[in-house]
Amino acid sequence: AKRQHGNQYVYFAKEMYTQLERRLTIEQDLAGDLKEKGLYFVLQPQMDIEEQVLIGVEVLSRWNHPKLGFIPPPEFIQIAEENGYILKLTSYMFCEIFLEMKKWIEQFDFKPRVSFNVTPFLLSSESFFTDFFDLLERFGIPASYIELEITEETELTTSSTAFKNLLRCREKGILISVDDFGTGYSTLSYLIHFPVGKVKIDKYFIDQVEQDEQAEAVLKSIIQLSENLGYEVVAEGVETKRQADFLKENGCFNIQGYFVDRPLPMDVFERKYVRGENV
Ligand code: C2E
Ligand code: CA
Ligand code: CA
Ligand code: CA
Repeated sequence: AKRQHGNQYVYFAKEMYTQLERRLTIEQDLAGDLKEKGLYFVLQPQMDIEEQVLIGVEVLSRWNHPKLGFIPPPEFIQIAEENGYILKLTSYMFCEIFLEMKKWIEQFDFKPRVSFNVTPFLLSSESFFTDFFDLLERFGIPASYIELEITEETELTTSSTAFKNLLRCREKGILISVDDFGTGYSTLSYLIHFPVGKVKIDKYFIDQVEQDEQAEAVLKSIIQLSENLGYEVVAEGVETKRQADFLKENGCFNIQGYFVDRPLPMDVFERKYVRGENV
């Protein structure tokens, strides 16, 4: 029995070591050249399925690491958030995407908003927003083309830097949306007190369509509430026609999810949604 315990200890120690090593590798590479290390961006369309028009695009990060392979975004985003490299990652993302957007706007009269995820750390940083506004100006991207997605994890008091940053955004005409809406703890007060213009209904509620009547009722109320308060609303993670039909019947026409399209590599997105080619 003793020996068995010993082996188990060695096993767990190894496991821990591997996890620690993985984390260290991710941290080290976040500090380095992100492009060289395999980080890139994909774009997922948001569609008005009634009018069949593209209303927005969400930018998502992908990391195909030379040693670790595909790293799930929540894993490396969390690490970047903890050590501050999220600043660097997000600035890199702005530069890459703004460059494309500039081309799309000038050459193809591209209109939909492009949305970026902003973590609590970023939302609370004054210099992040100053740099962000500078970049917009430098690339010549009008604020009306930009949307920022925030989550309810960020504690917002009206005296906080985060709140001031949101006001700065609103003044400029940048749309703020609440991501994963309905799952946070402060859901309603977020809408009432903060400069928010759009709600992204969490996939959780979409998954409950035809599964759970209570959740369906909540979903309907969220759509109604958003409309009554004058917010744009989009349903996230819509995968099936039944889900899309339910949403349509209940007045939500804006859809993001595999039912419309997966997040696409930049060149594929451009061909399909900017140039309107058949791909
Ligand atoms: P999120 O912001 O809620 O993004 C939506 C997630 O749902 C994405 O996962 C997307 O690929 C996935 N998705 C979209 N439609 C469907 C669908 O129909 N079915 C299913 N099963 N999934 C769908 P992804 O790209 O793995 O990202 C996960 C989370 O990681 C994101 O959740 C976001 O919180 C974070 N994240 C990803 N990229 C970035 C980034 O560049 N910056 C920041 N701050 N966070 C990011
Ligand atoms: Ca998001
Ligand atoms: Ca979301
Ligand atoms: Ca999420």
